[in-house]
Amino acid sequence: MSAHQESPCSCGRVDEHIIARSYTLDGVRVELWSTGDITGRLGTYPPGMGGFRGTIGLEAGRVAWADISLYEWRELASLLRRARRRVAERAA
Ligand SMILES: [Zn+2]
Repeated sequence: MSAHQESPCSCGRVDEHIIARSYTLDGVRVELWSTGDITGRLGTYPPGMGGFRGTIGLEAGRVAWADISLYEWRELASLLRRARRRVAERAA
């Protein structure tokens, strides 16, 4: 890993790491990664989210994370898709 690689996270770490923990509306413990990915226990991906693993980006992950406790586990893929779209529109 390059020493000059930029960290996506304010802590400066460049490797993938967990930056926050919370619970969904239906009580599933979830983790936000520095890549913007959101996983459940043991690194499992919400249904429908496996396909865009690693493509979320921290900004969209944070947007989704703000509402994480308002959604159920099975709704997280659509929550993340909306967050990613919102961030993309803002950047355009
Ligand atoms: Zn960090």
